[in-house]
Amino acid sequence: MINIILLGPPGAGKGTQARHLVETRGMVQLSTGDMLREAQANGSEMGKKVAAVIERGELVTDEIVIGLIREKIAEGAKGGFIFDGFPRTLGQADALGDLLAETGLKLDAVIEMAVDDAALVARITGRSTCGGCGEVYHDQTKPWAADGKCTNCGSTDIKRRADDNEDSLKTRLMEYYKKTSPLLGYYYAKGDLKSVDGLVAIDEVKAAIGKVLG
Ligand code: ADP
Ligand code: ZN
Repeated sequence: MINIILLGPPGAGKGTQARHLVETRGMVQLSTGDMLREAQANGSEMGKKVAAVIERGELVTDEIVIGLIREKIAEGAKGGFIFDGFPRTLGQADALGDLLAETGLKLDAVIEMAVDDAALVARITGRSTCGGCGEVYHDQTKPWAADGKCTNCGSTDIKRRADDNEDSLKTRLMEYYKKTSPLLGYYYAKGDLKSVDGLVAIDEVKAAIGKVLG
């Protein structure tokens, strides 16, 4: 069993790679972004509280996301956990270290997905996701079928995220550089950091991550 963090700016491809690891290795993906969107879709109090913050592209409080992650870690995962979009601050990174230690788990690798900003803007502003199965589409590079159905599951519920627009993306990038990118140094110093090129084709990124995980 291995536990890893996928680290990188919005649009780096963390979700795509996490889905692949779930399918091929039976790992459990913990995406705080997905959990927060689920809370919004369920209409919970917490979901209502964070909606505007997320739409602006700012980070929600450490307290909220640490609470979400704590619950999921307690449920356990046979194939190990993939932390996707968490931690995003040094406070979250410390909290994750404590949670793992309490549960007797260890972190095996922190994988940086390195990309450049120009590519992120193009990737994110054309992005849509299938509500049925989570498949990710892109207007230019991976359009869905002409009949309007998801090629993977047939659902017609294909949505663009409210925060996948140029304004919110600017804020999300700034939040990343100010608050999340210091984690690269943090995990480098701990000896856990591995870096893969996130700009190459999806299959090549899969292979590079596979090599890191062995
Ligand atoms: P992306 O990586 O594509 O920007 P995510 O789906 O991971 O998107 O997150 C979407 C939004 O959810 C973030 O912009 C932020 O508002 C909120 N969010 C997700 N994870 C965290 C976290 N660990 N800490 C604070 N806010 C978070
Ligand atoms: Zn689908």
